[in-house]
Amino acid sequence: MVISSKDVKTIYFCPRKAKFEIRSRKQTSGLQSSGMNFQTDAFGCTLVADVDEVVSEKPLIVKISKTGKKLAEYHMLESAFVGYVIESCGKHLESIIVESPYYSVTVNWKPYVSKMLSMIGTFCETDDFRVVKTHLCRTCQYSAECFREIVNTESLTFLHGVKEKTLEKLKSYGIRTLKDVINMSPIIEELIGKEKTKRLVFQAQSILNNKPILIKPLPKISEGLYLDIESYTPISFDYLFGILDNGLYVPFLAPDPNHEEDTFKKVIEYISKSGNPVYHFHNYEVNRFKKLARRYNIELPKSFFSRFIDVYKLYVDYVALPVPSYSLKSIARYFGFNWRTQLNGQLVVHSYAEYLATGDERILQEILMYNEDDVRATEFILKKLKEIF
Ligand code: SF4
Repeated sequence: MVISSKDVKTIYFCPRKAKFEIRSRKQTSGLQSSGMNFQTDAFGCTLVADVDEVVSEKPLIVKISKTGKKLAEYHMLESAFVGYVIESCGKHLESIIVESPYYSVTVNWKPYVSKMLSMIGTFCETDDFRVVKTHLCRTCQYSAECFREIVNTESLTFLHGVKEKTLEKLKSYGIRTLKDVINMSPIIEELIGKEKTKRLVFQAQSILNNKPILIKPLPKISEGLYLDIESYTPISFDYLFGILDNGLYVPFLAPDPNHEEDTFKKVIEYISKSGNPVYHFHNYEVNRFKKLARRYNIELPKSFFSRFIDVYKLYVDYVALPVPSYSLKSIARYFGFNWRTQLNGQLVVHSYAEYLATGDERILQEILMYNEDDVRATEFILKKLKEIF
């Protein structure tokens, strides 16, 4: 098994996902390196230090690029992995720089080597990791597989709307399976209230019977526009506003931050002219509109925002679904929608960074395709709501 330093983050948060990814990579294209490689063997695996830049060869200084705001523990473990592999190749490593648009730090990686080795050792020596819900599950391509496994055991792990603390509380009352949720609902009511319990019971029934359940009558759903925004988060730049209008995809693309205001104004004009509801998934679009309106001193009346309808909220409030999460991907895939690209919310930020660095138009075309699929998926799941109920 070949493990890259770029796998460290996933191994840290979900070794199960990392195993799936590394295995599928073996079957397809092998390790995609984005920079200069050093490698060594350990625990029966090949460890590859995949750095983003060799800043200097004598003395040897390497750089690992990130996009986030803060340095986290897994960055230190990734650095320790890189440092360990390079020094195992007999090189003297002067320093490792971890850099993002928000910081640039020369890290003290040596104290993290033993923790990193213990983590990688366990990873190499373990065949199957059990399903443990993490923040990665929402966008994970393996979530359907994990969900199926968990459903077979009737575990509450993927029960929507149950936080870790509530889960612990339920367990302390002996409520451990989906059937327990249904049979012991009076106890749950006392713990979390009537409304939330009702929701949980519907959710458990939906998973056990593998079918959607309507929680309460749906409001009227009219024809409308579908909106999805792509942002380059490191500089808070909203570069793409994709609109689906009567089946036609209309992208509003800002070529650089100087054109953001102009592009935003064109989108407002387009939406204002239509007069139809604007469907979007989750609150991101509304938040960005409010932020951009403040940034460019544009007055947007309440009536403008009253046309925005969050399809995520429609699902959460009205429907119990047998899905691992209420993400757009999860819901749309459940109903049979397929994306044409492998991008997700995080990867698309990296892709855009790559586009900025290289100017490669193919990357931009892929981002446009991903954005178009997002608005089409939003339309698709809204139609499903009308069809099923
Ligand atoms: S769905 Fe969650 S538990 Fe399963 S592999 Fe993905 S991140 Fe891990």
